[in-house]
Amino acid sequence: MVVIMKPGFTKKELDHAIAVMKEGGVNVMISQGAETTILGAEGNAQGIDITKMQALPGVERVMRVSEPYKKANRKYHPDDSVIEIAPGVTVGGKKLLVVAGPCSVESEGQITQVAQAVQASGAQALRGGAFKPRTSPYSFQGMGYAGLDLLEKARSATGLPVVTELMSTDDISYFADHVDVIQVGTRNMQNFDLLKRLGKVDKPILLKRGLSATIEEWLMSAEYIMAGGNEKVILCERGIRTYETFTRNTLDLSAVLAVKKQSHLPVVVDPSHACGQAWMVERMSLAAIAAGADGLIIEVHNDPVHALCDGQQSITPEQFAALMGKAGTIAECVGREL
Ligand code: PEP
Ligand code: MN
Repeated sequence: MVVIMKPGFTKKELDHAIAVMKEGGVNVMISQGAETTILGAEGNAQGIDITKMQALPGVERVMRVSEPYKKANRKYHPDDSVIEIAPGVTVGGKKLLVVAGPCSVESEGQITQVAQAVQASGAQALRGGAFKPRTSPYSFQGMGYAGLDLLEKARSATGLPVVTELMSTDDISYFADHVDVIQVGTRNMQNFDLLKRLGKVDKPILLKRGLSATIEEWLMSAEYIMAGGNEKVILCERGIRTYETFTRNTLDLSAVLAVKKQSHLPVVVDPSHACGQAWMVERMSLAAIAAGADGLIIEVHNDPVHALCDGQQSITPEQFAALMGKAGTIAECVGREL
């Protein structure tokens, strides 16, 4: 952190600013130029409240010079994190993780059939929502606990680990016992209570990027989970809200590169929610791999026309198989494998 003093500041104001910085736990280096006096914080400036510092008399401007996330920061952890989601299934290493399945669990037949089909094409994990965050209270809200039971049945039938969304802190211990990866949806990316509680859980967390979250806000949400002790955070770019309405959201593929530069955490891409249209999913999946994503999470439904949620963006198992046929080639071009 760097603090620039106002022209004409008093000695009392300078001493006070220095004292506040020291109280925050840093050493203060003073650079006294002819026109400008600058205070540099040496050490971890996390303990200094930047807005309070900014409000001090005599202070012109306060600038942060290092990122506010520490555990998620690549600076302090140069190697990529490799997270194991089930025995032998990892994300963040050379091998890409592909998660596929319907938006929502609808019946035992549906989830098991889709699980078997995507597994046959090379998916290593099954997705399926049981608790659904819907814009309308009149839309299908998911099967709840019955849906989690069906996911477990599909896991028993295939051996695929399951990824499913948690919405309430009330369900955390149940999820911790019954699912393999806990998804935090875009709408809950800044549900700080939920994030803090997930910091105490020994399960990988798939943290989707908030609808309008900056990359820094997203990494700060990861930091919440990691600060609690759970360092198994998988980031998921799922499109952000922009002025464009042709697509459901705008897939921010440059965020994959940005996050991989700033953080050691793995990043997967969800082209289904980003585009909102099934016909775009294959190309955007391939583009995501080319951009350096560590994996994909794709909505696949055996009967998209009759899906209870997100049918318009769900691809069929046949389309998924075709996508997987091409994905290996792109992966190889960027030094990865499927
Ligand atoms: C989902 O994965 O089905 C979902 C609701 O995702 P998001 O939070 O990205 O909208
Ligand atoms: Mn969905």
